[in-house]
Amino acid sequence: MTELLAAENIFLLPQKSKVHLFGPDLDEYVKDGITKARDFDRTYDDDVLLKPEMMQLLQNAVDRLTRLQRLVGYANFSLLGFDEAIRYAQQYSRVGAFTKQELDFVESIFFEDAAKYGFLGNKVITNLTSRISNRETIKMAGTGHFLFKGQPLNMYNKIKKDVGNSVILTSGIRGVVKQIHLFLAKAVKTNGNLSQASRSLAPPGHSYHGIGDFDVGKIGFGENNFTAAFSSTFEYKKLRELGYVLIRYTENNPYGVRFEPWHIKVV
Ligand SMILES: [Zn+2]
Repeated sequence: MTELLAAENIFLLPQKSKVHLFGPDLDEYVKDGITKARDFDRTYDDDVLLKPEMMQLLQNAVDRLTRLQRLVGYANFSLLGFDEAIRYAQQYSRVGAFTKQELDFVESIFFEDAAKYGFLGNKVITNLTSRISNRETIKMAGTGHFLFKGQPLNMYNKIKKDVGNSVILTSGIRGVVKQIHLFLAKAVKTNGNLSQASRSLAPPGHSYHGIGDFDVGKIGFGENNFTAAFSSTFEYKKLRELGYVLIRYTENNPYGVRFEPWHIKVV
């Protein structure tokens, strides 16, 4: 593949950088992340932004991925591998081949150390071209989402049985391409602020949706299922009573991520 862009080519580092992660200041850095995650959807002086000249590239990559999602279908897009994405884009003129600059840009986002812009979670997928085998997954009727067979599927079925039919899968498996699309689209909304984007969405490679976690919500609760309001529903209270259900991003988690009461930790 193409040669990586150096990180300083895409980032605009803040004047007063708090990027001093390694060493005795780590605790302070984590505390800083926890504080910011409480009020995640605002900007902070030391946020890390994409350089203004990268913004058009960002938009072009998002638009191409959106066209690709339309081509393969919303559900299938969540399982798509990066090599397949490149191939489909090349084959179908209504998507159009990725440019070298777009591929370089996606690569540098994927391989960059997300801690540089404040995300402190683990990288769970390190290979940009990793694929999800269809045989490992099952499409969940009526949801538009897939789950991995085995533990995730079993846990979801158990939750449905114990909480009741008002609980529903709101996001299942998200492969690398799907997470790239979500994260870059979020970065468009934050005007290139990667720190702000990563407070509410794991950067590509860092999402546990790629290896087994899933989100649940209350039927009819719509977008509220992805807000703190979900934590006051009957469904959430019931989930918390079940000893086997753990929440990945709890309140004041050490990863610099907002409270996500809907995100079930499986792996
Ligand atoms: Zn989630």
